[in-house]
Amino acid sequence: MELTDSHGRNINYLRLSVTDRCNMRCFYCMPEEGITKREHGTILSYEELLLISETAIGLGIEKIRITGGEPLVRTGIVGFLERLARIPGLRHLALTTNGLLLEQLADALHQAGVQRLNVSLDSLKPQTFSDITRGGDLKRVLGGLDAAERAGFPPPKINCVIMRGVNDNEILDFADMTLSHGNSIRFIEYMPAIKEDGWQRYCIPGSEILERIAGRYTLEQVDKGPFSGPSRDFRIPGARGSIGIITAVSGHFCSECNRIRVTSTGQAKGCLFSDEKTDLVPYLRPPDRERLAEALRGIVSSKPERHSITGEGYAHKNFTMSQIGG
Ligand code: SAM
Ligand code: SF4
Ligand code: SF4
Repeated sequence: MELTDSHGRNINYLRLSVTDRCNMRCFYCMPEEGITKREHGTILSYEELLLISETAIGLGIEKIRITGGEPLVRTGIVGFLERLARIPGLRHLALTTNGLLLEQLADALHQAGVQRLNVSLDSLKPQTFSDITRGGDLKRVLGGLDAAERAGFPPPKINCVIMRGVNDNEILDFADMTLSHGNSIRFIEYMPAIKEDGWQRYCIPGSEILERIAGRYTLEQVDKGPFSGPSRDFRIPGARGSIGIITAVSGHFCSECNRIRVTSTGQAKGCLFSDEKTDLVPYLRPPDRERLAEALRGIVSSKPERHSITGEGYAHKNFTMSQIGG
């Protein structure tokens, strides 16, 4: 079965957030303080998340990415992933993590059936990393990357949000890393998530990131595999890893957008930057598969053609990326 939206895009990818809690506080994602703990019962149970997944897969979703907050902080995550991986029709199960708990959990995640890991890593300098994440320990994340490969995962894709004046002086260090490491480094444009005046000052268009790398290295274009996501991929000739550019703000991958999102409180969204969302809870408590399927189809058919955050008069949406899952 195929899910197609009203702009002719095939929707086969669900980003499923399992928690809005996190063991880090990246300044561009979460406020330092003032996150109120959700009342017990507002976060969907694993049974409910499985029901959403099963229904979405029945409609045509083939890939699920587990995200958060930090998905690995949720108790029982491995058992949930094992059950999710067994749902017939799911072709690709991936997880995005900040990597802090990977040393402990990489083996179990691999055995549970997770096929790929994306690890977020915005700096290779301990102090800058700690400043961005408000206290994160770079060594643990690097240890987590090694543990993932030892556990049998392909080298994790590394998500790196580039911000002017914060870590843009490391673009070439990350590019260098692909010479000796098999990871794909994906440079992501900073998106306005935390409500903050002057957010534009952090933005560096993907084209500029690419120019800076091309100033030092020749880059060859890499063909994309299935489920490889919205990045444009390049390789320094002879390098082990690759370089991807995700132009979430300046760019034009809305026309290829294949995703929907469901938050850990059961809010389904067709577009990261749209206000429109559908509360799935009424179809989960008690479970009503037919109406749940109808609600998911509705989210797909009302998906906007593109975001308007670069347009004039964009009203900053007050959301944290940790609630939506990036
Ligand atoms: N905690 C996990 C992690 O950090 O990988 C998963 C959730 S996090 C919200 C998912 C992704 O969103 C991360 O790669 C993070 O860098 C990205 N993200 C969060 N806020 C962002 C922002 N303002 N602009 C661009 N990417 C952002
Ligand atoms: Fe946590 Fe990930 Fe957000 Fe950083 S980006 S605060 S690790 S959820
Ligand atoms: Fe898809 Fe919306 Fe992101 Fe564009 S901004 S790629 S439509 S989710």
